[in-house]
Amino acid sequence: MIPSILPTYSRAPMSFVKGEGSWLIEADGRRFLDLGAGIAVNALGHAHPKLVAALTEQAQAVWHTSNLYHIPAQQKLADMLVEKTFADTVFFTNSGTEACELAVKMARKYWFEKGQTDRTEIIAFEGSFHGRSAAGIAAAGSEKMTKGFGPLLPGFTHLPLGDHDALQAAISDKTAAIIVEPVLGEGGIIPLPDACLKGLRDLCDSHGILMILDEVQCGVGRTGKLFAHEWAGVTPDIMMVAKGIGGGFPLGCVLATEDAASGMTAGTHGSTYGGNPLGCAIGCAVLEEVGSDAFLAEVNRKAGLLRQKLEGLVAAHPDVFELVRGSGLMMGIKCKKPNIDVVNAGYAAGVMTVPAADNVIRLLPALNIPDEDIAEAVTRLNSAAESLG
Ligand SMILES: *Cc1c(COP(=O)(O)O)cnc(C)c1O
Repeated sequence: MIPSILPTYSRAPMSFVKGEGSWLIEADGRRFLDLGAGIAVNALGHAHPKLVAALTEQAQAVWHTSNLYHIPAQQKLADMLVEKTFADTVFFTNSGTEACELAVKMARKYWFEKGQTDRTEIIAFEGSFHGRSAAGIAAAGSEKMTKGFGPLLPGFTHLPLGDHDALQAAISDKTAAIIVEPVLGEGGIIPLPDACLKGLRDLCDSHGILMILDEVQCGVGRTGKLFAHEWAGVTPDIMMVAKGIGGGFPLGCVLATEDAASGMTAGTHGSTYGGNPLGCAIGCAVLEEVGSDAFLAEVNRKAGLLRQKLEGLVAAHPDVFELVRGSGLMMGIKCKKPNIDVVNAGYAAGVMTVPAADNVIRLLPALNIPDEDIAEAVTRLNSAAESLG
């Protein structure tokens, strides 16, 4: 008999009744150090007082009005994002995959309005993840996500990452945009070298192609800059954001330059919930915290501490782990043992990590994880590794 919840997930046998900072607590009181943070969502940990206050205050004022009217919290968050980024304009969604839908629509509409109506093709990269909607699975293109769901949204070409010749060959006068994650998340925590992102930007510029960056996982302070592309000193034309921006409340957005967004006039896109007062009030609180230089400096310091400890962990367990890679507090450990076994051994030791492709476990802790929790997490990962060794 089919379960009452559509069985699309394979869940670990845990459930939590409370969250405190970097900790999750089961009904029997068992405590887990949460290095998954709801897959890079709980950017400020669980039950952060400022986020609880922002949510409570907005909840007591007004929850939802629809986008038929002005929404002050949405205006405030848009203004903050425009001030802090390359973007001139923002559209709010509830999730990352909805951001992908708009990014694709925006890129196509751009060329349509320029009179280049068959300039609709989008180049994407193998191993990427852009969400589970029709545009998201078509963009990522992997058989794992698309099999059985055809016919797929047409117009996507998939290239291996780092294959410059394939990229040059794939570009034509029909190429509307290139979409890429600056740090692949689900794909196994693979940071694109700065030179690679710069090269992509140059290529886009020389062919007039729009650059779409998917910062749904690597954005909002995760890598130690507010957005990961800042490390490379380039800016996209369109950017997808979600996960961390809501700190645990469903919120996403698409950021764009005025030019890239020029086709999106009144009536061309919309969302009933997108940019609702609750989500945007929390988004403002998240951005006020994460967007400060002092906070980002702390992320970088903590990232250095975690990385150093993880290098030691990997060196101590060469039979379990192979190497550490990542950027900021978006770390991956490539395993020698099956990554699922390592994740499960972590659960037994009271520490939560998230599996990713390429036999990697992901460490995506709260960006404000205390130093002592970093130390405790690595102690627990060490116990997990010992149990597998
Ligand atoms: C999680 C993720 C998405 C999809 O976000 P949802 O909120 O699950 O729809 C898209 N792109 C990247 C890079 C992601 O990590």
